[in-house]
Amino acid sequence: MNPNIFTSPIYSVAEDGSGVAKCDGYTVFVKGAVIGDVCKIEITKRNKTYGFGKLLEVITPSQSRITPICPQFEGCGGCTLLHTDYETQLKIKAETVYNALTRIGNFEDIIVHSATPSVPDLHYRNKSQYPVGGSCANVKIGFYAPRSHNVINSDSCAIENPDARIILNAFRSWMEKYKVAPYNEEKHTGTIRHIYSRAGESIMVVVVSRTREIEHLDELKEALLSLDLSKPIGGIVVNINSQKTNTILGKYDYVIYGEKFIYAKIEDITYKVNYKSFFQVNPYTTNLLYKKAMELCNLTGNETVFDLYCGIGTISLFLAKAAKKVIGVEIVPEAIEDARENARLNNITNAEFYCGAAEDVCSGIIKAGEKADVVVVDPPRKGCDEKLLDAIGKMKPEKIVYVSCNVSTLARDARILHEKYGYKMKEAFPFDQFPHSMHVEAVVSLTLN
Ligand code: SAH
Repeated sequence: MNPNIFTSPIYSVAEDGSGVAKCDGYTVFVKGAVIGDVCKIEITKRNKTYGFGKLLEVITPSQSRITPICPQFEGCGGCTLLHTDYETQLKIKAETVYNALTRIGNFEDIIVHSATPSVPDLHYRNKSQYPVGGSCANVKIGFYAPRSHNVINSDSCAIENPDARIILNAFRSWMEKYKVAPYNEEKHTGTIRHIYSRAGESIMVVVVSRTREIEHLDELKEALLSLDLSKPIGGIVVNINSQKTNTILGKYDYVIYGEKFIYAKIEDITYKVNYKSFFQVNPYTTNLLYKKAMELCNLTGNETVFDLYCGIGTISLFLAKAAKKVIGVEIVPEAIEDARENARLNNITNAEFYCGAAEDVCSGIIKAGEKADVVVVDPPRKGCDEKLLDAIGKMKPEKIVYVSCNVSTLARDARILHEKYGYKMKEAFPFDQFPHSMHVEAVVSLTLN
């Protein structure tokens, strides 16, 4: 008998969507296995405390197992939960939040509410970025093969905006017709690196190119403007990225049609969004997430609120209506310009914005005499810098509302605020901003009593 082959139920789901099996107590991660399956597995790699296994056979399929609707489910690696029904996905996400807050955060007696679903859970993304590769004779546009930079063609995607696919197809035809060279990452030659589109009230298209000059741009513009899309095209921009880098966007750009931004609406607020600024990708849950953050702030109209990592002022302007004053801090200059413009656009006069790293700027604002009653933080995946947590903790706001796209760093930061500064957390609210992936958004409030 092969000692590497064993049968096990799948007990839980790992961070990358793999199923977790046990072989005599030894943890084995299995790609393609669904929680609740009973599987025959072969261990292919052994580390000291855990290993990796190949799914040989699903002996008894889980009741949560479904056929993935995307033919490229295995090759793409984007939607790692597409083989699991949506209800179970929501449970997995709430559990992920609970596990992080109890194990990493050391919070006991925490109530984690059910994850708020995205309706719809398919074709929800308002932003799509596709890498371009291959050769002039065989243009490839789609996604990178897992753990590589080989571009795989994609014919469809379960979560993209339908307009993004129409744009991609027109773009592909233009490249093929005019023999426009795709970028070759290894040799750092060729032209087109990425095609990116973002939709709000209108749609913008960004062509990321290694070179400043691209031939036949007029023909591309005409082709894009003649498409039958659900919204008008508001801008077409060429972004130049001549560096050898994994970063998608370069510093310089020029407009070939319209503007570098779109307008997007959340509830009754209109936001101007530069293509370089962060904007939540799921419009069906974003308003619910912000409403919850607003509810947790529990504002009466007398408070000064800091909105740190404010992007284009999305949460700041939501809160400004109910606060005395809001101060937003954000590191991307284009986003801060948008934030200031967005305040004007919505006739909001009690919001101020500062550009810089929150951990550097915040203590200066406090030294200048500002004191927040409520602090909202919404950092990127790496969470908050400890210097910032210290500045907040010493200021002693009554309440800290933490919006997070990575519950591990949320749990780490909340633990620091709890152990060093006495902040307590009673409940957490997961939101499914990213259906079919393992990513989960959560909002919590930390209070002094
Ligand atoms: N609250 C906004 C943006 C959240 S995303 C929204 O919901 O739309 C996180 C934001 O933090 C991004 O805009 C990113 O540019 C910004 N950021 C990243 N590191 C930062 C730092 N050290 N200080 C301030 N902002 C930062």
